[in-house]
Amino acid sequence: MFDNLSDKLDKALHNLKGHGQITEINVAETIKEVRRALLDADVNFKIAKQFTNKVKEKALGQNVLTTLQPGQLMVKIVKDELTELMGGDAEGVNLSGTPSVVLMSGLQGSGKTTFSGKLANFLKTKKTKKPLLVACDVYRPAAVDQLHVVGDQISVDVYSDKGNTDPVAIAQAGIAHAKANGHNIVIIDTAGRLAVDEAMMTEISNIHKAIQPQETLFVVDAMTGQDAVNTAKAFNDVLDFDGVILTKLDGDTRGGAAISIKSVVNKPIKFIGTGEKMDAIDVFYPNRMADRILGMGDVVSLVERAQEQYDEEEARKLQKKIAKNQFGFDDFLSQIQQIKKMGSMKDLLGMIPGAGKALKGIDIDDDAFKHVEAIIHSMTPGERSTPSTINASRKKRIAKGSGRTVQEVNQLMKQFDQMSKMMKMMQGGGGRQMMNMMNK
Ligand code: GDP
Repeated sequence: MFDNLSDKLDKALHNLKGHGQITEINVAETIKEVRRALLDADVNFKIAKQFTNKVKEKALGQNVLTTLQPGQLMVKIVKDELTELMGGDAEGVNLSGTPSVVLMSGLQGSGKTTFSGKLANFLKTKKTKKPLLVACDVYRPAAVDQLHVVGDQISVDVYSDKGNTDPVAIAQAGIAHAKANGHNIVIIDTAGRLAVDEAMMTEISNIHKAIQPQETLFVVDAMTGQDAVNTAKAFNDVLDFDGVILTKLDGDTRGGAAISIKSVVNKPIKFIGTGEKMDAIDVFYPNRMADRILGMGDVVSLVERAQEQYDEEEARKLQKKIAKNQFGFDDFLSQIQQIKKMGSMKDLLGMIPGAGKALKGIDIDDDAFKHVEAIIHSMTPGERSTPSTINASRKKRIAKGSGRTVQEVNQLMKQFDQMSKMMKMMQGGGGRQMMNMMNK
């Protein structure tokens, strides 16, 4: 996410850190580079200028020139300003109605249908809501089918009426259907066009007037940079929406949209989309995003994701198994499944401070565990529960069955062995033992 911008900002701020003596001239030089980095990331020109002026004012006001660590102080000032620019605090979605109606708007291809599904899934699992998806695109039957596919995937009901050509009537009927069937959230997916045009604006505005949603969200593809900001402005003028959804942040996005949108339309970004799958959705936290932009990672989100997957019952069972020396490959496999549920490898690594930079340019397989899984799947249940029975001929068979080499099987066995030892040590109050091992 935002690799280029992160790199350039890092360089600009690093240059300052490297200077033995800080002068007004090299602060000015740093500021100029920060501005250039923002412009290259497709941040609105006016915003970039205001931003750097503010940073400069703060820096000089705080006497960066005489502090011991001016580089660090500059990083903090830039981080605070970035956070402020992106909206300050995280903003939730208004779910006060019965049912609460959420209207989706945006251009075709922005990710509305995908996000409608993600939001339904998010609310269903995190807030124990019972959502209904409503398909209001009367021009593209494929769009209606797509919403049904999404609904099936996440086990959420979808209301559609394919013969009906009046989106307002479908939206109203959808809400009535929700009331009759005990749904407390209605998410209405609407038709988009390839570009802003009057007919689309009139249609969405008519739906908006007729159903008076609690929440109107504008979905926009982050990859489109300044265009995203202009489209947001056009929609906001007509709809006065409540929040922005920035999709496709997993791609090669430059970051301009994320940074500029809030100040241009004065509406917060509420969620981001980070992939095509239904769980690739994150609440937008401006301060965490600022950390990520500055290459500081996002440990808070990483820990939260880990906590979401943490199952106390499972953890207790696992603990018992470790204590009894019964930890086997099936347990190893289920640990891998848990990590996978936390998100794509690239996304997870990007949350670790410094990792994004260190791994830049390295292609990380989204299914980094698939070889390990293949090897384990080629083992018999007996071998999985008692790995010590895996001798040379069994290794050969496992390698053949999984399409991997014996070397890879050996490597996995070794890793498994080390992991089991380590877990055993952590269990037995072996913190000291661990320290000893690491000091060797
Ligand atoms: P709509 O026309 O606005 O309803 O857009 P869709 O939901 O059909 O999305 C258009 C394309 O973008 C589809 O291929 C989606 O899979 C893809 N897409 C949507 N959101 C994301 C995202 O956050 N990341 C990525 N990589 N692709 C996305």
